[in-house]
Amino acid sequence: MTREDYAKKLIPNDEDHRYYEEKYPPRNLTEGAMVTRFAPSPTGFVHMGSLYASFSDLKMAKQSGGVAFLRIEDTDQKREVEDGISGIIKDFDNLGIKWDEGPTQGGDYGPYIQSEREDIYKAFARKLIEEDKAYPCFCTNLELDEMREEQEIQKHRLGYYGNWAKCRHLSQEEALKNIEEGKEYIIRFKSDGDFKNKIILDDLIKGKIEMPENDIDIVIIKSDGLPTYHFAHAIDDHLMRTTHVIRGDEWVSSYPIHHQLFDALSFERPFYAHIAPITIREGETLRKLSKRKDKEAAISFYHNLGIPAEVIELYLATINNYDFEAWYIENPDKKVDDYKFEYAKMPIGGSLFDIEKLYSISRLYFSKLTAKEIYDDLLKYTEEFDAEFNEILKKYPDYSIAVLNIEREVEKPRKDISKYQDIRDLVYYMYDELYKVDTYEWQKITDEEEIAKICKLYIDKYYDEADDKDTWFAKVKDLAEELGYAREVKDFKKNPDAFKGHVGDVSSVLRIALTSESRTPDLYEIMKLLGKSRIKKRYEK
Ligand code: GLU
Repeated sequence: MTREDYAKKLIPNDEDHRYYEEKYPPRNLTEGAMVTRFAPSPTGFVHMGSLYASFSDLKMAKQSGGVAFLRIEDTDQKREVEDGISGIIKDFDNLGIKWDEGPTQGGDYGPYIQSEREDIYKAFARKLIEEDKAYPCFCTNLELDEMREEQEIQKHRLGYYGNWAKCRHLSQEEALKNIEEGKEYIIRFKSDGDFKNKIILDDLIKGKIEMPENDIDIVIIKSDGLPTYHFAHAIDDHLMRTTHVIRGDEWVSSYPIHHQLFDALSFERPFYAHIAPITIREGETLRKLSKRKDKEAAISFYHNLGIPAEVIELYLATINNYDFEAWYIENPDKKVDDYKFEYAKMPIGGSLFDIEKLYSISRLYFSKLTAKEIYDDLLKYTEEFDAEFNEILKKYPDYSIAVLNIEREVEKPRKDISKYQDIRDLVYYMYDELYKVDTYEWQKITDEEEIAKICKLYIDKYYDEADDKDTWFAKVKDLAEELGYAREVKDFKKNPDAFKGHVGDVSSVLRIALTSESRTPDLYEIMKLLGKSRIKKRYEK
């Protein structure tokens, strides 16, 4: 039997590798355009760590005029979780992240779900068998266990290699006989590597790393007919014409396998950029941000809080290139996409995850939005998470925008919002429907009788909706004086026994009696929006 017939007998699918090479020709892109891919396994939600890698995929492709695609790596079906694929797609949708190609949007290099590419992998496995670079392995798990035990006893390196690789030495006839007898088999790669030789990974982030050649006959097609990660990586990244493989640095140690597979398949090797994980501080030590342990690892965590996708993007940009933050501060009007990301500026070790940093980026981001922009997004957020507030916002659109505009169009806009979830607690007192008196704040200031006196005199004698801010403030001082408080804080400080307190105490009373909050933005603006009759009602309580 010729090798070709033999290979066909082992892998009897229709098309051969030439068909696929033609079907997926090199991409027609300009010089320097990068083709990147994000390749998650559907083993759980998209988390900060994976998003961090996908951020690089997207930016590098975009800024070079290339293509970034999403590929679902579901060849390890035992590890797959329910809704794994749809969950990943939803997480990206929520973030407004758009891939140029992928399972939902399609593209010329699909399918973009590996389990739908079984025939493609098999065609290339068949090619390797024809060229005597792959072979069927009939070893049972028991035999493999025994081999491992023996290797341990003899203190040999573990693995299926050299003389330990029993099935590598089977003749074609012996293999065919096994198949005839119905024995199950997998396909292994026939490594020609020598552990004593060195290869070099020229990593775009980590620099040159020297490693021993791979001499293990790794599995390429498993018993379920699907490829292993290593084989699928070589085939897919070749046929999808990936130029830059950006992936977690847990894959560095597998690189010798990939190096060898690309050579054996006569594929041009892509560039590699291995990304260090995001770490988190736990007590004194740093550890990898964990999908299982850390709620802030989940992207849905931010969506639920109402942290805008743009903030996540800014945060990822900040930890992605070390000088991004300084650039962004120097160029406050520029967008993330105006910055040119470079692999060489990425951290070689892990980047520390810092949620306080993320919140501070978010506060700055919110401070740059217009009230109308916040209102529109707040409507979307509350539609999903706060139906009561959503109704109210829809009922009073102009009023709500005015509320959100307090201390916004000024030189130093307010920076108290870090997420949409914060807003209700920051503005509830502007709506009668939401307002509740907080007696704790109330009791902190002074006795009820004095509060009532201050408020009554103020609303009856001093408050006038037509006043400008200076007049308004002068009147608060007049009120203070009339009731025995110092007009100026400094007068009170000079002679504290001569006064009940100072103007600040009076305005605190006016503030808390109106809003139940001891800290609010500009009280003048708040009063103007609430209007005299509403103020009166609250002061008369
Ligand atoms: N499916 C692999 C993972 O989730 C992807 C690694 C890669 O990007 O090549 O770790």
